[in-house]
Amino acid sequence: MPFSLLRLSPALVRAAHELGFITPTPIQAQAIPVVLRGADLLGSAQTGSGKTAAFALPLLQRLGQGPQHTPRRVRALVLVPTRELAAQVGEVIRSLAQHLPQPPKVAVVFGGVSINPQMMGLRGGADIVVATPGRLLDLIEHNALRLAGVEMLVLDEADRLLDLGFAEELNRVLWLLPPRRQNLFFSATFPPAVQALAQGMLREPVRIEVAAVPANEPAIAQRAIRVDDKRRTELLRHLIKESGWERVLVFVATRYAAEHVAWKLYKNGVFATPFHGDLSQGARKQVLQEFKDGQWDVVVTTDLASRGLDIAQLPVVVNYDLPRSAVDYVHRIGRTGRAGESGLAVTFVTAQAEAHFRLIEKRQNLSLPREQVPGFEPQEEPPEGAPGAGGVKGKRPSKKDKLRAKDLSLRA
Ligand code: AMP
Repeated sequence: MPFSLLRLSPALVRAAHELGFITPTPIQAQAIPVVLRGADLLGSAQTGSGKTAAFALPLLQRLGQGPQHTPRRVRALVLVPTRELAAQVGEVIRSLAQHLPQPPKVAVVFGGVSINPQMMGLRGGADIVVATPGRLLDLIEHNALRLAGVEMLVLDEADRLLDLGFAEELNRVLWLLPPRRQNLFFSATFPPAVQALAQGMLREPVRIEVAAVPANEPAIAQRAIRVDDKRRTELLRHLIKESGWERVLVFVATRYAAEHVAWKLYKNGVFATPFHGDLSQGARKQVLQEFKDGQWDVVVTTDLASRGLDIAQLPVVVNYDLPRSAVDYVHRIGRTGRAGESGLAVTFVTAQAEAHFRLIEKRQNLSLPREQVPGFEPQEEPPEGAPGAGGVKGKRPSKKDKLRAKDLSLRA
C-alpha cells in the first residue's frame, strides 16, 4: 500500500518519497489514519520501526488544516529523552514539511548547550517544538514560550524519558498544557510506571502494537559469545577483521571504558573513536557525521549516547559490556536493523556476566546459544553461586539508579 492511500496530502507524500519512504512501515500504516481522525494513540513500537514519520506526517497534516496564527503559537509539542533524538526528530519533521504551502516553524530545544540561541530561535513563536523536558521548562521560566495553545502532544520513547529520571519534569509540563488536546504516546516497553503515565494522559486511546521484530522487516540476528574478560578487545579486533565488519557500534558501561577500548583498538590499527556524554555537543555531532561518512570503522559508546543514533546501514552492534537492563538491551540492538536493513547484534558474555545476561534473556524471552570463537575459548569459570551480578534493574529504582538518573537528567 502506498502512502497516498493513507489520505495524506500530496505535499507530504512527495516529501516522504524524497526521504525514500515509499511504502509505509506497519506502525505508519496503522497510526496515520488514527492520528488523522484526531484520536489519542498508544503505540508500542521498537526503535527503528519508523515511528517518527508515523506521528510526524499526520501531525503536519492536521496542523495544516487549522487556522494560521500570527504571532505563531506552539500548537504541537514533541517530548523526547535525549538531545540526539530531539535533533533527529526535528530534522525529520522539517524534511517532511518542506513542500507544504505554509511550512510550519519547527524549534528544537535541548539541554547541555547555551540557552540563548534557543531563546532567539523562539522569537516570533514556533508552531512545533521538539524538546527535552528539562530545557523546555527552563525556556518557559524565561518566558521564551508558552504551552497554552498546544493542540497535539507527542511523547516519544516514554520508557526512556522515565528511565532518565524525567518523571517530575514531565508532570510539570503536563500541568502547563491545555486539557483538550490530542495525545500520541510511544514507548518500546511498558513497565508499570509507563502504563500509569499513559493511563493518566490518554483518553480512550487506540492501541497499536508492532511486534518487536516485524515480520516484514529483516530480523536482527543475535549472537552471544563466551569470552574471558581480558580478551574482549582482542576478540573484537579478530571479529572485525575475520568477518569484514565495516561499521560497528560497540557498547561499553562507562565513559572511561569508551575512551579506553577505542584507544586500544586505534593503537592496533582499527579506526575507532569514543562517543559519550563528556564530549561537547559539537564533538558529538562531528563524530556522528564522520561515522556516517564512513571515516570511522568503530564507534565505542555508552548507553546515554546510544539513544536516537540513527545511522543507516549500521550492520553490527557489539555489547562489549552488558547493558544494565533488558530495556537497554532492546534499545542497543535496535541501533542495527533499522527499517529495511538487516542487522547483527553480538554480545560478549564473560564468566562474571553470565548470570546477568541470563536475566536479560529471561526478560526478553530469549535463549541464545553460547558460542566460542576458536583461539578465544574462555578459561574463566563463573564465580561460585553468582547471583544476578548486581541484578537487572527491577521495578523500584535503587539509590544508585536514582543518582544515575539525576546525573543523566542534568545532562539531557
Ligand atoms: P524511526 O523508528 O522513526 O527512528 O525510523 C527508523 C528508520 O527507518 C529511519 O532511518 C527512517 O529514515 C527509516 N524509515 C522510516 N519510515 C520508512 C519507510 N516508510 N520506508 C523506509 N524507511 C523508513
